[in-house]
Amino acid sequence: MKELEKKLSDKQINPTAMRLLALDYLTKRSAAVSLTEMELEMDRSDRVTLYRTIKTFEEHGLVHRIEDGTGITKFALCQQGCDPGHHHDLHVHFFCNSCKETHCLPKTIIPEVVLPEAYQAQERELIVKGICAACAV
Ligand SMILES: [Zn+2]
Ligand SMILES: [Zn+2]
Repeated sequence: MKELEKKLSDKQINPTAMRLLALDYLTKRSAAVSLTEMELEMDRSDRVTLYRTIKTFEEHGLVHRIEDGTGITKFALCQQGCDPGHHHDLHVHFFCNSCKETHCLPKTIIPEVVLPEAYQAQERELIVKGICAACAV
């Protein structure tokens, strides 16, 4: 738990029991997770507390949200370089049509998009759909 505590305090987040539990859960997951999934799989969690926890994580640059086209918002841990209110995770997300899981691809960076004049980008998101490495074998 020491390492998890440090991860939280590094992001100026108070390490409460619930937050440690949520971080532990997210660390062990390889795929992005929805609030509903978290609620079902984590013991002693209620939706409101869980939602607040994730929101705090998001605000402090510990997790980022992913819209993968399924209509369900999912969350995944950020890479090291994220600051509060400023996410550096401009990586591609991969949705597997077979297992329906969404993975962060931290080494695959979203390419620069050239916009017409007077258009200002505020967010960039790129979802690639296909068959993931685990399902391909
Ligand atoms: Zn898959
Ligand atoms: Zn991601």
